[in-house]
Amino acid sequence: ELQLSDRVQRIKPSPTLAVTSRAAELRAQGKDIIGLGVGEPDFDTPDHIKEAGIEAISAGKTRYTAVDGTPGLKKAIIGKFQRENGLTYEPSQILVSSGGKQSFFNLALAYLNNGDEVIIPAPYWVSYPDMVLVAGAKPVVIETDVSARFKITPAQLEAAITDKTRLFVINSPSNPSGMAYTKDELAALGDVLRKHPQILIATDDMYEHILWTGQPFVNILNACPDLFDRTIVLNGVSKAYAMTGWRIGYAGGPAKLIKAMNKVQSQSTSNPSSVSQEAAQAALNGPQECVGHMVKAFKERHDYLVAALNALPGVTCAEGDGTFYVFPDFRQAIADLGLENDIALAERLLEFGVALVPGSAFGAEGCLRLSFAVSMDTLKAAIERISNALSK
Ligand code: PLP
Repeated sequence: ELQLSDRVQRIKPSPTLAVTSRAAELRAQGKDIIGLGVGEPDFDTPDHIKEAGIEAISAGKTRYTAVDGTPGLKKAIIGKFQRENGLTYEPSQILVSSGGKQSFFNLALAYLNNGDEVIIPAPYWVSYPDMVLVAGAKPVVIETDVSARFKITPAQLEAAITDKTRLFVINSPSNPSGMAYTKDELAALGDVLRKHPQILIATDDMYEHILWTGQPFVNILNACPDLFDRTIVLNGVSKAYAMTGWRIGYAGGPAKLIKAMNKVQSQSTSNPSSVSQEAAQAALNGPQECVGHMVKAFKERHDYLVAALNALPGVTCAEGDGTFYVFPDFRQAIADLGLENDIALAERLLEFGVALVPGSAFGAEGCLRLSFAVSMDTLKAAIERISNALSK
């Protein structure tokens, strides 16, 4: 019998992609399914970005590039970090990868050893724990719930740290909760981390631009500039510019770490797509109005959804700060229906024609993630189906 590696047996396929394919399967059988499972904007990549990709093909920019990205794109990323985040990087501190997912994967493989502990606040992006497991390290999850707006406290962080802790991951605004940490909250987490110099910090700023707090975006380095030498910033063009299929993510961090991540990438995928890099460069250097239009639409849908969900029996939905997800708590509804858990509820919702991802996939049982990267009409139809599924 074929024997697979221990490594691959430690992990599971991405549950969010699984929901999407399950919905597609049911649709193929002729069922009418509204999919609220996907993690990508429903908008098209803006025209000026597409044009840059087309021009790149015409101009023959179709060859290998430097593994860590073209000089032009790296310059655009350095400019972006300076302009938008007040962070100063050298080219040796930047690595471009095939999506934000690969950035984190490179980090896990280049930095973690067997037995190292990685602190991951829940609800978390589904891929963090599995990538940590692939690297042989151990995810240490900090639980939160809706009453805490799904944010960890400094005391929780302190309690999770051991002498094996080597990495702390923070994602704000968060997929799936939609919550963003304030500068004060980040400063307080930084106070804890400052006492434990062995811990590297990874801040995943993927949803930076999809934010409506009225305050400028902040990450932990804006709150604690002194942590610069032990922080890696992860970001990408996928969500902000509706470029999920182009596969460009990037990281800024200590040169030694970036070099090691570059080595991993050089022995796996080499450079990210040359054409996509040209498009990403146009996205970062070009006009930014397109982002604002998308955010405005997301905010309208968010407001509708939060109100509609809170009007349902047994559902509590906090207002989010950004992203295109809400993460309502269905614990009361699950109990009222006599269901076992959020997975059973997601199954029931599928029978009523709505596909969404159970919260336990993100480490938060009793919740469900709804993506509102769909039209308002679709959302209204989805709410009607959810409402039907909740009335016995
Ligand atoms: N980080 C977070 C929090 C995400 O939600 C995602 C995508 O879902 C990524 C990183 C990776 O994005 P991509 O690999 O599509 O660039």
